[in-house]
Amino acid sequence: MMNGNSVGGEVVSWCTKCKLELGHTIIAIVDNKPKKVKCNTCNGQHNYRSAPAGPGKTTAKRAGRKRKTPEEIYNEHITRLSKGDIPVTRKYRIDEKFTVDDLVDHPKFGVGVVMAIVKTNKIETLFKDGPRLLIQNQ
Ligand SMILES: [Zn+2]
Repeated sequence: MMNGNSVGGEVVSWCTKCKLELGHTIIAIVDNKPKKVKCNTCNGQHNYRSAPAGPGKTTAKRAGRKRKTPEEIYNEHITRLSKGDIPVTRKYRIDEKFTVDDLVDHPKFGVGVVMAIVKTNKIETLFKDGPRLLIQNQ
């Protein structure tokens, strides 16, 4: 048999445990194709899979768990606070005092949303590229 597939031979298969394409040893063959394989890495036995399972439960679940980017979170806050209008912003100054949900116009970082008062003189402000600590109330 010259087609390469034989019991005890090596084949690259998707490992359901390692979640990787890895070298496997063929345990059973049906219609000249590997049917059952054993992972050379974890020794797990499973049906031969040429590639990861297509769009299905696992993929959908994984996509749903995808974390939002700072920009997406930022945009949600801006939309929520401005309600479709042009957001009312206050110029950032270290001697100003801001509260949660204030929109701060920073000369360098742009418009940010105050997320939390960390200390009386420090505010966590979310900008388009992520959160930053700003000094206030000085
Ligand atoms: Zn494995």
